[in-house]
Amino acid sequence: MIFEAVSICPICSSEQFKPFLVTRDYSISKTDFTLQECSTCKFVITSPRPDYNTISLYYLSTNYISHTSKGNNLIDRLYLIARAYTLRWKYRIVRKHKPGGFILDFGCGTGAFLQYMKKRNWIIAGIEPSETAREQACTNTGTNIFSTLSQVQKQFDVITLWHVLEHVHDLNKKIKDLKSHLEKDGILLIAVPNHNSLDSKKYGSYWAGYDVPRHLWHFSKQDMTKLLAKEGFEIMDTVPMKLDSLYVSLLSEGYKHPKKSGLMRFIKGILTGIKSNLAARGTGQYSSIIYIAKQV
Ligand SMILES: [Zn+2]
Repeated sequence: MIFEAVSICPICSSEQFKPFLVTRDYSISKTDFTLQECSTCKFVITSPRPDYNTISLYYLSTNYISHTSKGNNLIDRLYLIARAYTLRWKYRIVRKHKPGGFILDFGCGTGAFLQYMKKRNWIIAGIEPSETAREQACTNTGTNIFSTLSQVQKQFDVITLWHVLEHVHDLNKKIKDLKSHLEKDGILLIAVPNHNSLDSKKYGSYWAGYDVPRHLWHFSKQDMTKLLAKEGFEIMDTVPMKLDSLYVSLLSEGYKHPKKSGLMRFIKGILTGIKSNLAARGTGQYSSIIYIAKQV
Protein backbone atom coordinates (compact mmCIF):
# COMPACT_ATOMS: atom_id res chain seq x y z
CA MET A 1 0.00 0.00 0.00
CA ILE A 2 1.58 3.28 -1.09
CA PHE A 3 0.24 6.65 -0.03
CA GLU A 4 1.46 9.89 -1.52
CA ALA A 5 0.97 13.49 -0.42
CA VAL A 6 0.31 16.16 -3.02
CA SER A 7 3.16 18.68 -2.89
CA ILE A 8 2.07 21.15 -5.59
CA CYS A 9 -1.40 22.55 -6.18
CA PRO A 10 -2.47 21.54 -9.71
CA ILE A 11 -4.38 24.81 -10.09
CA CYS A 12 -2.05 27.53 -8.78
CA SER A 13 1.26 25.65 -8.19
CA SER A 14 1.41 26.72 -4.54
CA GLU A 15 3.27 24.37 -2.20
CA GLN A 16 1.41 25.43 0.94
CA PHE A 17 -1.57 23.46 2.21
CA LYS A 18 -3.54 23.46 5.44
CA PRO A 19 -5.83 20.78 6.92
CA PHE A 20 -9.44 21.24 5.81
CA LEU A 21 -11.35 18.22 7.14
CA VAL A 22 -10.93 14.61 8.20
CA THR A 23 -13.46 12.31 6.57
CA ARG A 24 -13.90 8.57 6.20
CA ASP A 25 -14.14 5.98 3.47
CA TYR A 26 -17.61 4.82 4.57
CA SER A 27 -18.18 2.39 1.74
CA ILE A 28 -15.09 0.20 1.50
CA SER A 29 -12.07 0.52 3.79
CA LYS A 30 -13.79 2.37 6.71
CA THR A 31 -10.55 4.31 7.27
CA ASP A 32 -10.01 8.05 7.71
CA PHE A 33 -8.46 10.39 5.15
CA THR A 34 -7.48 14.04 5.45
CA LEU A 35 -8.54 16.75 3.06
CA GLN A 36 -6.09 19.61 2.63
CA GLU A 37 -6.84 23.07 1.31
CA CYS A 38 -4.41 25.02 -0.87
CA SER A 39 -3.38 28.10 1.15
CA THR A 40 -3.40 30.27 -1.97
CA CYS A 41 -6.35 29.27 -4.18
CA LYS A 42 -8.41 27.20 -1.65
CA PHE A 43 -8.55 24.08 -3.84
CA VAL A 44 -9.43 21.09 -1.62
CA ILE A 45 -7.63 17.80 -2.21
CA THR A 46 -7.40 14.35 -0.61
CA SER A 47 -3.81 14.18 0.64
CA PRO A 48 -2.13 11.86 1.36
CA ARG A 49 -3.95 9.49 -1.00
CA PRO A 50 -3.33 5.97 -2.35
CA ASP A 51 -1.08 6.18 -5.41
CA TYR A 52 -2.16 5.24 -8.92
CA ASN A 53 -1.35 1.54 -8.47
CA THR A 54 -2.83 1.20 -4.98
CA ILE A 55 -6.14 2.99 -5.50
CA SER A 56 -7.75 0.01 -7.28
CA LEU A 57 -7.93 -1.71 -3.87
CA TYR A 58 -10.49 0.92 -2.87
CA TYR A 59 -12.80 0.03 -5.74
CA LEU A 60 -13.02 -3.69 -5.03
CA SER A 61 -16.59 -3.77 -3.84
CA THR A 62 -19.92 -4.77 -5.29
CA ASN A 63 -21.24 -1.71 -3.46
CA TYR A 64 -19.52 0.63 -5.88
CA ILE A 65 -22.76 1.29 -7.69
CA SER A 66 -21.44 3.07 -10.77
CA HIS A 67 -19.77 -0.17 -11.81
CA THR A 68 -22.75 -2.42 -11.28
CA SER A 69 -26.19 -2.70 -12.77
CA LYS A 70 -27.99 -4.53 -9.99
CA GLY A 71 -29.42 -2.67 -7.01
CA ASN A 72 -29.81 -4.56 -3.75
CA ASN A 73 -31.25 -1.96 -1.42
CA LEU A 74 -33.74 0.88 -1.70
CA ILE A 75 -31.20 3.62 -2.37
CA ASP A 76 -29.46 1.55 -5.06
CA ARG A 77 -32.77 0.74 -6.70
CA LEU A 78 -33.81 4.40 -6.72
CA TYR A 79 -30.41 5.25 -8.14
CA LEU A 80 -30.94 2.87 -11.04
CA ILE A 81 -34.41 4.27 -11.79
CA ALA A 82 -32.94 7.77 -11.69
CA ARG A 83 -30.13 6.66 -14.00
CA ALA A 84 -32.59 5.62 -16.71
CA TYR A 85 -34.18 9.06 -16.54
CA THR A 86 -30.77 10.72 -16.39
CA LEU A 87 -29.54 9.09 -19.62
CA ARG A 88 -32.20 10.88 -21.63
CA TRP A 89 -31.51 14.11 -19.75
CA LYS A 90 -27.75 13.87 -20.44
CA TYR A 91 -28.43 13.18 -24.12
CA ARG A 92 -30.50 16.36 -24.32
CA ILE A 93 -27.76 18.43 -22.71
CA VAL A 94 -25.22 17.15 -25.25
CA ARG A 95 -27.63 17.69 -28.15
CA LYS A 96 -28.25 21.28 -27.10
CA HIS A 97 -24.57 22.03 -27.83
CA LYS A 98 -23.80 19.48 -30.59
CA PRO A 99 -26.42 17.87 -32.83
CA GLY A 100 -24.37 14.71 -33.53
CA GLY A 101 -20.98 13.28 -34.43
CA PHE A 102 -18.19 11.53 -32.56
CA ILE A 103 -18.47 11.20 -28.79
CA LEU A 104 -15.97 9.86 -26.30
CA ASP A 105 -17.13 8.94 -22.79
CA PHE A 106 -14.05 8.98 -20.60
CA GLY A 107 -14.64 6.63 -17.63
CA CYS A 108 -17.68 5.06 -19.26
CA GLY A 109 -18.33 2.43 -16.55
CA THR A 110 -20.54 -0.31 -17.96
CA GLY A 111 -21.38 1.81 -21.00
CA ALA A 112 -25.03 2.77 -20.35
CA PHE A 113 -24.59 6.34 -21.61
CA LEU A 114 -22.69 5.27 -24.75
CA GLN A 115 -25.32 2.64 -25.47
CA TYR A 116 -27.98 5.36 -25.32
CA MET A 117 -25.98 7.71 -27.57
CA LYS A 118 -25.34 4.95 -30.11
CA LYS A 119 -29.09 4.36 -30.43
CA ARG A 120 -29.38 8.04 -31.29
CA ASN A 121 -26.88 7.68 -34.13
CA TRP A 122 -23.80 9.06 -32.43
CA ILE A 123 -20.49 7.41 -33.25
CA ILE A 124 -19.26 6.28 -29.86
CA ALA A 125 -15.97 5.50 -28.14
CA GLY A 126 -15.30 4.72 -24.51
CA ILE A 127 -12.48 4.48 -22.03
CA GLU A 128 -12.75 2.53 -18.79
CA PRO A 129 -9.81 1.43 -16.64
CA SER A 130 -11.71 -1.21 -14.63
CA GLU A 131 -11.47 -4.51 -16.48
CA THR A 132 -14.78 -5.88 -15.21
CA ALA A 133 -16.69 -2.72 -16.14
CA ARG A 134 -14.87 -2.47 -19.47
CA GLU A 135 -15.86 -6.00 -20.51
CA GLN A 136 -19.45 -5.25 -19.58
CA ALA A 137 -19.30 -1.99 -21.57
CA CYS A 138 -17.99 -3.87 -24.65
CA THR A 139 -20.96 -6.24 -24.44
CA ASN A 140 -23.50 -3.48 -23.77
CA THR A 141 -22.34 -1.16 -26.56
CA GLY A 142 -21.11 -3.71 -29.10
CA THR A 143 -18.02 -1.51 -29.37
CA ASN A 144 -14.40 -2.01 -28.37
CA ILE A 145 -13.81 -0.05 -25.15
CA PHE A 146 -10.27 1.07 -24.39
CA SER A 147 -8.46 1.15 -21.07
CA THR A 148 -6.46 4.37 -21.66
CA LEU A 149 -6.71 7.51 -23.75
CA SER A 150 -3.40 6.80 -25.50
CA GLN A 151 -5.03 3.86 -27.33
CA VAL A 152 -7.48 6.21 -29.06
CA GLN A 153 -6.39 8.00 -32.25
CA LYS A 154 -9.55 9.94 -33.16
CA GLN A 155 -10.58 13.55 -32.60
CA PHE A 156 -14.01 13.97 -31.02
CA ASP A 157 -16.84 16.48 -31.23
CA VAL A 158 -17.82 15.80 -27.63
CA ILE A 159 -15.92 14.33 -24.69
CA THR A 160 -17.85 13.57 -21.51
CA LEU A 161 -16.61 12.85 -17.99
CA TRP A 162 -19.55 11.96 -15.76
CA HIS A 163 -18.20 12.00 -12.21
CA VAL A 164 -14.77 10.93 -13.39
CA LEU A 165 -12.35 13.86 -13.15
CA GLU A 166 -12.39 13.74 -9.34
CA HIS A 167 -10.96 10.18 -9.62
CA VAL A 168 -8.04 11.03 -11.92
CA HIS A 169 -4.50 11.24 -10.49
CA ASP A 170 -2.75 13.21 -13.26
CA LEU A 171 -5.22 16.07 -13.38
CA ASN A 172 -3.37 18.65 -15.53
CA LYS A 173 -2.00 16.05 -17.93
CA LYS A 174 -5.41 14.46 -18.34
CA ILE A 175 -7.01 17.74 -19.38
CA LYS A 176 -4.18 18.38 -21.86
CA ASP A 177 -4.61 14.86 -23.29
CA LEU A 178 -8.36 15.27 -23.56
CA LYS A 179 -7.84 18.58 -25.36
CA SER A 180 -5.57 16.89 -27.90
CA HIS A 181 -8.44 14.47 -28.67
CA LEU A 182 -11.01 17.22 -29.13
CA GLU A 183 -11.89 18.92 -32.42
CA LYS A 184 -11.19 22.66 -32.46
CA ASP A 185 -14.89 23.39 -32.04
CA GLY A 186 -15.48 20.35 -29.83
CA ILE A 187 -16.94 20.53 -26.34
CA LEU A 188 -15.94 19.03 -23.02
CA LEU A 189 -18.60 18.10 -20.45
CA ILE A 190 -17.35 17.55 -16.92
CA ALA A 191 -19.68 16.57 -14.06
CA VAL A 192 -18.27 16.73 -10.53
CA PRO A 193 -19.56 17.16 -6.95
CA ASN A 194 -19.50 20.65 -5.45
CA HIS A 195 -18.46 20.87 -1.81
CA ASN A 196 -19.90 24.39 -1.50
CA SER A 197 -23.44 23.01 -1.71
CA LEU A 198 -25.84 23.20 1.22
CA ASP A 199 -25.92 19.39 1.63
CA SER A 200 -22.11 19.36 1.84
CA LYS A 201 -22.12 22.08 4.50
CA LYS A 202 -24.84 20.29 6.46
CA TYR A 203 -23.20 16.85 6.50
CA GLY A 204 -19.60 18.07 6.84
CA SER A 205 -17.25 15.11 7.20
CA TYR A 206 -20.20 12.74 6.57
CA TRP A 207 -20.90 14.21 3.13
CA ALA A 208 -20.95 11.37 0.58
CA GLY A 209 -19.65 13.70 -2.14
CA TYR A 210 -16.18 13.54 -0.56
CA ASP A 211 -16.08 9.76 -1.14
CA VAL A 212 -12.45 9.39 -0.08
CA PRO A 213 -10.01 8.14 -1.14
CA ARG A 214 -11.62 7.54 -4.56
CA HIS A 215 -12.28 11.28 -4.94
CA LEU A 216 -8.83 12.84 -5.06
CA TRP A 217 -9.97 16.39 -5.88
CA HIS A 218 -12.92 18.41 -4.56
CA PHE A 219 -13.84 21.11 -7.05
CA SER A 220 -15.63 24.40 -6.51
CA LYS A 221 -16.87 26.49 -9.46
CA GLN A 222 -13.89 28.75 -9.06
CA ASP A 223 -11.45 25.79 -9.09
CA MET A 224 -12.95 24.35 -12.27
CA THR A 225 -12.88 27.72 -14.02
CA LYS A 226 -9.19 28.23 -13.20
CA LEU A 227 -8.13 24.66 -13.95
CA LEU A 228 -9.80 24.65 -17.37
CA ALA A 229 -8.53 28.15 -18.21
CA LYS A 230 -4.97 26.94 -17.57
CA GLU A 231 -5.39 24.42 -20.35
CA GLY A 232 -7.08 26.82 -22.77
CA PHE A 233 -10.74 26.13 -22.03
CA GLU A 234 -13.57 28.50 -21.27
CA ILE A 235 -16.74 27.41 -19.46
CA MET A 236 -19.72 28.26 -21.68
CA ASP A 237 -22.47 26.80 -19.55
CA THR A 238 -23.14 25.01 -16.26
CA VAL A 239 -26.03 22.64 -15.57
CA PRO A 240 -27.14 21.58 -12.07
CA MET A 241 -27.52 17.86 -11.29
CA LYS A 242 -30.54 18.08 -9.04
CA LEU A 243 -30.98 14.34 -8.49
CA ASP A 244 -27.45 14.10 -7.16
CA SER A 245 -28.29 16.22 -4.13
CA LEU A 246 -31.02 13.72 -3.21
CA TYR A 247 -28.82 10.69 -3.77
CA VAL A 248 -25.81 12.18 -1.98
CA SER A 249 -28.01 13.33 0.94
CA LEU A 250 -29.52 9.85 1.30
CA LEU A 251 -26.06 8.29 1.43
CA SER A 252 -24.73 10.96 3.80
CA GLU A 253 -27.70 10.48 6.14
CA GLY A 254 -26.78 6.78 6.34
CA TYR A 255 -23.13 7.61 7.12
CA LYS A 256 -24.08 10.13 9.79
CA HIS A 257 -26.89 8.18 11.47
CA PRO A 258 -26.24 4.47 10.86
CA LYS A 259 -28.43 3.48 13.82
CA LYS A 260 -31.52 5.49 12.86
CA SER A 261 -34.37 3.66 11.16
CA GLY A 262 -34.18 3.38 7.39
CA LEU A 263 -37.41 5.33 6.99
CA MET A 264 -36.18 8.24 9.13
CA ARG A 265 -32.93 8.42 7.20
CA PHE A 266 -34.85 8.29 3.95
CA ILE A 267 -37.15 11.16 4.90
CA LYS A 268 -34.35 13.33 6.31
CA GLY A 269 -32.11 12.63 3.31
CA ILE A 270 -34.79 13.54 0.79
CA LEU A 271 -35.68 16.72 2.72
CA THR A 272 -32.05 17.82 2.87
CA GLY A 273 -31.65 17.15 -0.86
CA ILE A 274 -34.71 19.26 -1.64
CA LYS A 275 -33.51 22.06 0.67
CA SER A 276 -30.10 21.99 -1.02
CA ASN A 277 -31.68 22.35 -4.47
CA LEU A 278 -33.94 25.19 -3.29
CA ALA A 279 -31.02 27.09 -1.74
CA ALA A 280 -28.97 26.58 -4.90
CA ARG A 281 -31.61 28.34 -6.98
CA GLY A 282 -30.28 31.52 -5.46
CA THR A 283 -26.60 30.67 -5.00
CA GLY A 284 -25.90 28.30 -7.92
CA GLN A 285 -24.19 25.97 -5.42
CA TYR A 286 -25.79 22.68 -6.44
CA SER A 287 -24.56 19.39 -5.00
CA SER A 288 -23.13 18.38 -8.38
CA ILE A 289 -22.57 20.50 -11.45
CA ILE A 290 -21.93 19.80 -15.14
CA TYR A 291 -19.40 22.21 -16.64
CA ILE A 292 -19.57 22.60 -20.40
CA ALA A 293 -16.38 24.03 -21.85
CA LYS A 294 -14.96 24.92 -25.25
CA GLN A 295 -11.47 25.78 -26.38
CA VAL A 296 -10.64 29.48 -26.34
ZN1 LIG B 1 -3.81 26.35 -5.28
